[in-house]
Amino acid sequence: MKVLLVEDEKRMAQALCGILSIEKYEVDYYADGADGLCAIESGIYDIAILDVMLPGIDGFEIVRKARKKGVRTPILMLTAKAELDDKVNGLDGGADDYLTKPFMTKELLARLRALCRRGSNMLDGVLTFGDISLDANRSTLFCTVTGQSVLLSEKEYRILEYLIGNCGQILTREQLAVKIWGLENEAEYNNVEVYMSFTRKKMKFVGAKAEIKAIRGVGYELRYDDVQ
Ligand code: CA
Repeated sequence: MKVLLVEDEKRMAQALCGILSIEKYEVDYYADGADGLCAIESGIYDIAILDVMLPGIDGFEIVRKARKKGVRTPILMLTAKAELDDKVNGLDGGADDYLTKPFMTKELLARLRALCRRGSNMLDGVLTFGDISLDANRSTLFCTVTGQSVLLSEKEYRILEYLIGNCGQILTREQLAVKIWGLENEAEYNNVEVYMSFTRKKMKFVGAKAEIKAIRGVGYELRYDDVQ
């Protein structure tokens, strides 16, 4: 998950960068509004965290300009208490959520996870993540870059749906087994591996760059690395 952070208060920015990297987010940080706008317009970020009061261009302006250019990156605004009235302004301008300073780390991380899920948005029964989209109505996997699609079995569909809904997190074999098969039976864990390999083959077949990474001894995570 690539996160863009635009925040001019140095201590706050450093603290946030630290927290986010511990949580395995890859953070790029800018202190100036104009640099922040340039960065978000690159479209490479999965989430953007924008402070409101910034030198150069303020956070609201960044949101408005980026949205006007068609940037769909989920945006979380950070507002000081005194600016709380401005939150409507921010949300109207196209921000997805806001957080009032000071905030708890736990709260920030929860909001980011929610935005991450929203970023992999469900529109008209279509779930998207990176270069793949999942059509619930037709049970198909589609690669938005190659234009290739493939029919999924019910289990494959549910595995991808679960992974997309929890992007940015590692799902354990146990979680997957319980979620997809509804059993806490040890024997079912093999099914997870078998279906995971079916699902991966189909992702390869459509030419998707998004991939299911196996984290040894832990579980699986859906990843999309644009720059390669
Ligand atoms: Ca500020």
